[in-house]
Amino acid sequence: MKNHVFLIISIALLAGCTASKEGEQEAANPAATILLKDFAPEVINNIPKTHVERAKFDIIDMHAHDYASSEEEIAQWTKTMDRVGVLNTAVMHCSWIGRPFEEYVEAYAPYKDHFKFWCCFDYTGIDGEEWPECGIKALERCKQLGAVGIGELGDKGEGDTYARPADGKDIHINDPRVKPLIEKAGELKMPISIHIAEPYWMYLPMDATNDGLVNAVTWHVDTTNCYGYDKLMETFENAVRENPKTIFIACHYLNMTHDLPRLGKLLDKYPNLYFDISARVAESAHTPRATREFLIKYQDRVLFGTDNGMDAEMYQNIFHVLETNDEHFYVPEYGYHWALSGFNLPDEVLKKLYHDNAYRILTEYR
Ligand SMILES: [Zn+2]
Repeated sequence: MKNHVFLIISIALLAGCTASKEGEQEAANPAATILLKDFAPEVINNIPKTHVERAKFDIIDMHAHDYASSEEEIAQWTKTMDRVGVLNTAVMHCSWIGRPFEEYVEAYAPYKDHFKFWCCFDYTGIDGEEWPECGIKALERCKQLGAVGIGELGDKGEGDTYARPADGKDIHINDPRVKPLIEKAGELKMPISIHIAEPYWMYLPMDATNDGLVNAVTWHVDTTNCYGYDKLMETFENAVRENPKTIFIACHYLNMTHDLPRLGKLLDKYPNLYFDISARVAESAHTPRATREFLIKYQDRVLFGTDNGMDAEMYQNIFHVLETNDEHFYVPEYGYHWALSGFNLPDEVLKKLYHDNAYRILTEYR
């Protein structure tokens, strides 16, 4: 009995001692207190880290915007393009709240060898009696002013939210009112670049299971009063199917980097569909083998795009992923907590992705 009492007291003391130590350890354990948003790991591995100063082949950048706010900035941009190997850049007027189309064409005119102009659909008068003639006329006018394509149109659920000058609310790409413009675009040999939906994490619950949580919170889509992901994909597929003579460029891998086989099925079905890789480096370079395989398989349908400003480093970060076999590196600007790895794309694929596919669309298609 005495022994039993002693044993019980000893266990109690021991347990108390352990509990307090655990409490202290818990308080001192950074893994339990560091927030995901503050996670900024540094790679310690002794592995290759390649700096790609200039792209291996000449580039046509099919996705950028009217970033430069002065002639000096435009001039600086062209210098950076020359340095990193970009021949010319699509400056997309839609989605950029700024000057009217003709003003920006004028602003870039002294450097027009470096830039291609893209315009919006003008929905002014879409419910009036002069539609679609007035919409077609606006498109023809842009073409005369030098526009080579249309975009970036954008539908995140509420219609063409990037539209200028008229509001594109509730105007989705498969809207019968838009069809005459899409057909005209085909006739004028102007490809349509369009942003549909957002990366899939933005639609999932904002909780600890959300793999893309850090960025998903910023770009979270509330679909209560608008089209959700699948509905948007349906509108897009309808438009692509119903307008086979018009080329569509789905921006950002059609926001399907999480499900490339689904994008592959669409590419298999519709020869008038292309996609650009812009602004989805981080969303694809954490699955380098699957993405590499996909880019090799669809090497005739992929287009280079940036959509991310004018800095040399911005371009070089993309080259690093596309060209090298480096693994486990971080690009903090992309925001995600995961590490990236390079695709090490074969030269013939790189050449098509960087240049040849875009060249074909902008010359032969025209
Ligand atoms: Zn864009």
